[in-house]
Amino acid sequence: MSRVFNFSAGPAALPVPVLEQVQSELLDWRGIGASVMEISHRSKEFLSLAEQSEADLRTLLAVPDEYSILFLQGGAQMQFSMVPLNLLNEKLRADYVDTGHWSRLAIEEAKRYGRVNVAATGADAGYTAIPARDSWRLDPAASYVHYTPNETLTGVEFHWVPDVGATPLVADMSSTILSRPVEVSRYGLIYAGAQKNIGPAGLTVVIVRRDLTGRCAPNAPKLFDYRRQADAGSMANTAPTFSWYVSALVFRWLLDQGGLEEIARVNQRKSTKLYRCIDGSEGFYSNRVAPDCRSWMNISFHLTSPELESEFLARAEAQGLIGLKGHRAVGGMRASIYNAVPEQAVDTLIDYMNHFRHSHG
Ligand SMILES: *Cc1c(COP(=O)(O)O)cnc(C)c1O
Repeated sequence: MSRVFNFSAGPAALPVPVLEQVQSELLDWRGIGASVMEISHRSKEFLSLAEQSEADLRTLLAVPDEYSILFLQGGAQMQFSMVPLNLLNEKLRADYVDTGHWSRLAIEEAKRYGRVNVAATGADAGYTAIPARDSWRLDPAASYVHYTPNETLTGVEFHWVPDVGATPLVADMSSTILSRPVEVSRYGLIYAGAQKNIGPAGLTVVIVRRDLTGRCAPNAPKLFDYRRQADAGSMANTAPTFSWYVSALVFRWLLDQGGLEEIARVNQRKSTKLYRCIDGSEGFYSNRVAPDCRSWMNISFHLTSPELESEFLARAEAQGLIGLKGHRAVGGMRASIYNAVPEQAVDTLIDYMNHFRHSHG
């Protein structure tokens, strides 16, 4: 067996010790004589996993008591609908900040339910920078402000939390959650699809201040109601048990690594060396993102021609470096270096990039 170095944007790499544990207990989980996939989500064994995983996530992110944590299905994009349906309430107005692909899709969906004010956009700058906070035009009557802390396609990341006064701040953290500590109390709601930095696809984590729930639009699907899901322990219907279970193992793994402060140190180090390789390449590789908003998680870069990019990708794959092709909307390369991508993978990629450059320079 040989494992590749996997830079996939999502679904993405998982920690090897987690995969090994999954493998070892696949046929017989906790002495039940069946796998975790084959038992009731309401069994006492699964309920204890659910409880422990929530406690671990609370510890990792220091989530205050007044926040509910939900383990839902439907992916991050279902939250593009659930957020407005739950939070717009009678005002039916919301602010959105547009920093790229995922912000735009969130905006399009929210427009189905209410009046969306695009408070700021990075479009004019080709989404290579984040509009400064003092340029945002917020609607004083908005029910919430939505933004995307890390735009996964281009690799544009907020390294600051926007101050939006008393209006609840909502964040799509799909590709940055658990990469560093977060001050949860600055947010009304945080959501993230699991398949980037949490676990397998199929699970979506929502962290919501409880006082913002309980006012879901009456005609919304009942499973969309945050309060209903919170009161049901995220089991208003069958929970995504397998991805929840793997995610719970990832939370444990993160705690074993020393928690998010330690993880953040590693992530910063990994991304810094990769940017240094790109910036030091005398234009052979280029990344156009403004230095103060370069992502720690998704690092995009171009070579000087499409032919060279194809060759770069093909040779990378032949050497066991996979998932480097950029999103079709952006082109070029993208190295996604989430928590589970080891520093050794980044070092190997850098060696490969340097070697490729010198053999084509
Ligand atoms: C991947 C991603 C999504 C889409 O997630 P789905 O789970 O496929 O709906 C949304 N937002 C961001 C920031 C993402 O990275």
